[in-house]
Amino acid sequence: MPDHAVNAASAVDSTPRKFVYDFAEGNKDLKDLLGGKGANLAEMTNLGLPVPPGFTITTEACKVYLDSGDAPAELRDEVSAHLAALESRMGKKLGQADDPLLVSVRSGAKFSMPGMMDTVLNIGLSDDSVHGLAAQSGDERFAWDSYRRLIQMFGKTVLDVDGDLFEEALEEAKRGRGVSTDVELTAPDLKELVERFKGIVERSAGRGFPQDPREQMDLAVRAVFDSWNGERARLYRRQERIPHDLGTAVNVCSMVFGNLGPDSGTGVAFTRDPASGQQGVYGDYLQNAQGEDVVAGIRNTVPLADLEELDAASYRELLGIMETLETHYKDLCDIEFTIERGKLWMLQTRVGKRTAAAAFRIAVQLVDQGLINEAEALQRVRGAQLAQLMFPRFDRDAESETLGRGIAASPGAAVGQAVFDSDTAVERVRAGERVILIRRETNPDDLDGMIAAEGILTSRGGKTSHAAVVARGMGKTCVCGAEELEVDLKRRQLTAPGGLVIREGDVLSIDGTTGAVYRGEVPVVASPVVEYFEGRTDPEADGATDELVQAVHRLMTYADRVRRLRVRANADNAEDADRARRFGAQGIGLCRTEHMFLGDRRGLVERLVLADTDGEREEALKALLPLQKGDFVELFASMDGLPVTVRLLDPPLHEFLPDLTELSVRVALDESRGTVSEQDTRLLAAVQRLHEQNPMLGLRGVRLGLVIPGLFTMQVRAIAEAAAERRAAQGDPRAEIMIPLVGTVQELELVRDEATAVIAEVEAEYGVELALTVGTMIELPRAALTAGQIAECADFFSFGTNDLTQTVWGFSRDDVEASFFTSYLEKGVFGVSPFETIDRDGVGALVRQAAEAGRAVRPDLKLGICGEHGGDPDSVHFFHEAGLDYVSCSPFRVPVARLEAGRAAADPSSSDSR
Ligand code: ADP
Ligand code: MG
Ligand code: MG
Repeated sequence: MPDHAVNAASAVDSTPRKFVYDFAEGNKDLKDLLGGKGANLAEMTNLGLPVPPGFTITTEACKVYLDSGDAPAELRDEVSAHLAALESRMGKKLGQADDPLLVSVRSGAKFSMPGMMDTVLNIGLSDDSVHGLAAQSGDERFAWDSYRRLIQMFGKTVLDVDGDLFEEALEEAKRGRGVSTDVELTAPDLKELVERFKGIVERSAGRGFPQDPREQMDLAVRAVFDSWNGERARLYRRQERIPHDLGTAVNVCSMVFGNLGPDSGTGVAFTRDPASGQQGVYGDYLQNAQGEDVVAGIRNTVPLADLEELDAASYRELLGIMETLETHYKDLCDIEFTIERGKLWMLQTRVGKRTAAAAFRIAVQLVDQGLINEAEALQRVRGAQLAQLMFPRFDRDAESETLGRGIAASPGAAVGQAVFDSDTAVERVRAGERVILIRRETNPDDLDGMIAAEGILTSRGGKTSHAAVVARGMGKTCVCGAEELEVDLKRRQLTAPGGLVIREGDVLSIDGTTGAVYRGEVPVVASPVVEYFEGRTDPEADGATDELVQAVHRLMTYADRVRRLRVRANADNAEDADRARRFGAQGIGLCRTEHMFLGDRRGLVERLVLADTDGEREEALKALLPLQKGDFVELFASMDGLPVTVRLLDPPLHEFLPDLTELSVRVALDESRGTVSEQDTRLLAAVQRLHEQNPMLGLRGVRLGLVIPGLFTMQVRAIAEAAAERRAAQGDPRAEIMIPLVGTVQELELVRDEATAVIAEVEAEYGVELALTVGTMIELPRAALTAGQIAECADFFSFGTNDLTQTVWGFSRDDVEASFFTSYLEKGVFGVSPFETIDRDGVGALVRQAAEAGRAVRPDLKLGICGEHGGDPDSVHFFHEAGLDYVSCSPFRVPVARLEAGRAAADPSSSDSR
């Protein structure tokens, strides 16, 4: 941004600043200064494309206005100078009575944002110049139509008049005439409408519609500045983390008219299909129309291809320009254009939005066309898009009956029986059914039902509603805010717009990727991308035709080649480990051992907890040992040759014991019948003893290891013996022992000493060297703050960012996500849950600090992360920048992490501290 830099520097040495740029003076890299729209208008102008002349008032001017409450003093003169230049070029003056120059005033910030001021067209028209326009164009109707549009748009956006008042007046005029569209209104009708519109302005705004053209322009410019701080814009910026001090630019652009008759019109176009990526002619065109008419649905548009028949010359020129733009921007562009009496004008372009599948295909197509290289292609796709492509989807070819549509809140395809409350959901699922939980909206009481259900459907609430937030957190399919579906909880039924009723127990299907709701069971097909990751399709085989899979394959291959960050999986059984390996995992970063204590083994845990004597405790542990060992042998076999980090037992013991309330009731009943057993009494005492107010911060992790003698040593022995057995079977086990919830190095020292002794024993028994390493999780703030000390005693750190986020924020995840996160997201306290994307400034700062302190003590310290953030795209970039060695995530997310690690490494703007 050389111009920008010069501009900023000149502010200091007090040379006059430049607040206005002619379109010919800017370019596409000046988005900070000219906004996206202005920068791209400038770029097109300099490419020699037909852009109506105009100029851009910079974001700097807006910033001065926002800071001081007034536009910079120089601005008025600068605008006058640019306006004069524009007028002399066009050969007419703004609002000139006999031949008026008209302009549009358009907002345009660096990022396109909802809530910014809508464009005002036809500025410069007045009671006088409307006659000049009529005379010059030879079209009375056109002139009055343009004038009524100006008063309407100006009244609504600049003077804050309720837009419905204008719409109602327009409707009334049409009704009075007995016509159904605006084009059927005649010049006298429109003239009359102008009078009515002026009356509306007068009454609602407390002032007349301004007749001075320059005043119109200045008021509109100021309104654009003001719209930067509108409520909706502010909220959007908070949520998207767009800084509030960027300001917006304002574009003043000479008018061209698509409403001059049937040889005029306006349209939008894409250089490729934004849904499939295919090159071709995509867009819509509307004859005799202006501005937003084409997207506003006031009349039926025609497909862009039909323009060829309407105006072959303009059509051919447009196709040529589309080609120019694609080659120039090296990407799919979307375009707004207008044809004025057979002359084509370009009004806007930008790099266009696209679907996930199109993103992958386009990126690879552009490489093949020689427009971009592979590193650039990698920046064109995102992990979130890959994740979207990995969800199963409904079979598009299957017959299905749509009931309605809501907001696509959490992707996936879910089928099940309709249930209308949480308890029924849980009951039916226990009975082996699949259910869809249907509610008006959900609240924390619905949690059990949400967990049990295949998917969640609500008739109210948006993307940050409770249902949406919690479902995304659980990775569960959710459609929310399906307002057209009437949910009747009392009668336990849902009514579709056509009157069709779905009763409790009826089957329905919901698509969390599109928001569609179907009656009955729609067949689900596996994602072709997952089939590829599973190794069931080979994109390089002869005859392979799936273009999407081939594109994914090529970009993944490239990402793997360039990434520095390794990717492991969180898995605690051989099945998950196998899948993780197929998906490209380079080891296991977190094997939780808690599930190994559930099921049949609960009894053994109870014995361990109830043990009164060392002998009893040892018996219980001895019984657990071979079972644990068996688990590890399997796991090490499926991850042969790759590292497996096993975390020693972490959750509080009561999780393995009967529920306090249930047990109390049973014992009380038995007591009253005189049948209570000695075992139950002891168990109840133990459960009461272990009951905690806040288990998350209680007796768990390393604390268990230090308090329950023999527990951790049994686990270490199981790991060591399993490794020894794998060795004996010619395997290559690479186990790493990980201690959870360490807060201070002393805890780690105690456990490590014990572990080292056990390992040595096993090595001696089996006569092998096992090369087991012992490390720790960093998941408490104190551990992060004393990482230097802890590193003295650890072979590796693995950041447990779930617990670290809980403890840094003081959030209990289960409580906060279900209760107040929705309102935090709505109020914009954060744009995304810190459990989804790492909080860089807080939790992230601790991670960086601990990584540095640890490596300062032990340069070869291996650093990983095993929280759920390991599979979150944005967080992966952070971990790359923080210099970690690997991320570990759920097997399904491994490809996403691989892709993002590659993108981070190939991103020229990303720094890697490793
Ligand atoms: P948005 O940011 O909402 O796209 P735009 O500034 O692009 O707003 O303008 C809204 C509509 O008005 C678009 O259809 C655009 O093409 C049209 N428009 C803007 N300026 C002019 C102009 N000078 N002449 C004709 N149409 C215009
Ligand atoms: Mg536009
Ligand atoms: Mg933890």
